[in-house]
Amino acid sequence: MLTLGIESTAHTFGVALLKDMKVLSNITDSYTTKTGGMIPAKTAEHHVKVCDKVLSKALKTAKIKLENVDIIAFSQGPGIGHCLRIGAAFARSLSLLLNKPLVGVNHCIAHLEIGRLEGAKDPILLYASGANTQIIAYEGGKYRIFGETLDNGVGNMLDGFGRALGLGFPAGPAIEKLAKKSKNYIELPYVVKGMDVSFGGIQTNIKQKILSKKYKKEDLCYSLQETVFAMLLEVAERAMAHCEKSELVLGGGVACNTRFKEMAKIMCKERNAKCFIPENQYLVDNAAMIGLTGYLMFKSGLQLSMSQSHILPYERTDDVVVNWR
Ligand code: AMP
Ligand code: MG
Repeated sequence: MLTLGIESTAHTFGVALLKDMKVLSNITDSYTTKTGGMIPAKTAEHHVKVCDKVLSKALKTAKIKLENVDIIAFSQGPGIGHCLRIGAAFARSLSLLLNKPLVGVNHCIAHLEIGRLEGAKDPILLYASGANTQIIAYEGGKYRIFGETLDNGVGNMLDGFGRALGLGFPAGPAIEKLAKKSKNYIELPYVVKGMDVSFGGIQTNIKQKILSKKYKKEDLCYSLQETVFAMLLEVAERAMAHCEKSELVLGGGVACNTRFKEMAKIMCKERNAKCFIPENQYLVDNAAMIGLTGYLMFKSGLQLSMSQSHILPYERTDDVVVNWR
């Protein structure tokens, strides 16, 4: 079975081709800026501009002809409406053109399902991306959110901090590079509430520290990373204990951070759990995870009619009826 996956929830437009669970190609093109962050209309314009180029490259890399595709899977939500609409329209057009079934995938669940490529069977997902920060696991017939950010996503918070330092968007990789140059920890607010986290106070506090000009950039980057990664791994560990699960999967662009990966491995080792870290291309927003989840959903009998294929910008993880496990 050949699945074509499409991702377009935020800054990344992606197309992937999969033969059953095997990824044949996974191509992305992401919107970036020097200043200003991610403006929804501009980001959607970017997706319109690159969509056919990304599709052609994905087909060429996979050595697949478009007419041989069996399923079209797209990210239906949650995400930015402007961006989701481009991916959904693209998916509908292909479905009509090829007369092939359409499957709508929840983006957050896809981040968990891609952990199957690494061998994860029943994990806790620590999903640390730009807009989303959630702890997700399968329990009682659904994927449920056991903990999440009460305000910003961790990546958006890092990007906001990076913007204040003039590091460009996305700022995560630049923050990581600077953090490596320091071991001088400056205390920051540490905000964990049960299995939830909050970043607003940290963001205000560190912006004041930037404005005071008393601190070195490197020290702030290092301290911010140490603080927020410890918070995330604390809540992930609590969820693992609560759900009695012994597997952790990382997801989201922030999980590309080598210090974050290292801390996750230490936590898992200490509690005798397995730590599954997908390749970076599957941590960031990507279409392979959408294709893989769409394939699993289709095999279990799920597909959408045209009238059901509207976008779901606010879809919650536990809104999704799961019958493919
Ligand atoms: P996503 O929304 O999952 O594609 O992730 C994008 C977010 O990941 C952005 O906020 C980036 O700043 C962040 N990010 C990417 N690479 C890194 C890194 N090496 N360290 C920390 N954050 C990162
Ligand atoms: Mg994501």
